[in-house]
Amino acid sequence: MRLLRKCECRYTVDQSLEVCNLCNHRFKTTYPPKFSPHDKYAEYRRRMKQEAKDRGVL
Ligand SMILES: [Zn+2]
Repeated sequence: MRLLRKCECRYTVDQSLEVCNLCNHRFKTTYPPKFSPHDKYAEYRRRMKQEAKDRGVL
């Protein structure tokens, strides 16, 4: 499993990096996702959008 770390502006799997050269923040370890958080939030967004549509908000 890849160890994913993030700073203030991006994610990296490069373990040699300690500080981001773009935002100067330290890379912090992220918790390993049990399932894809991207898919989870995408699904959530889709649902919210659909509900808004159903109510005539959008
Ligand atoms: Zn950064």
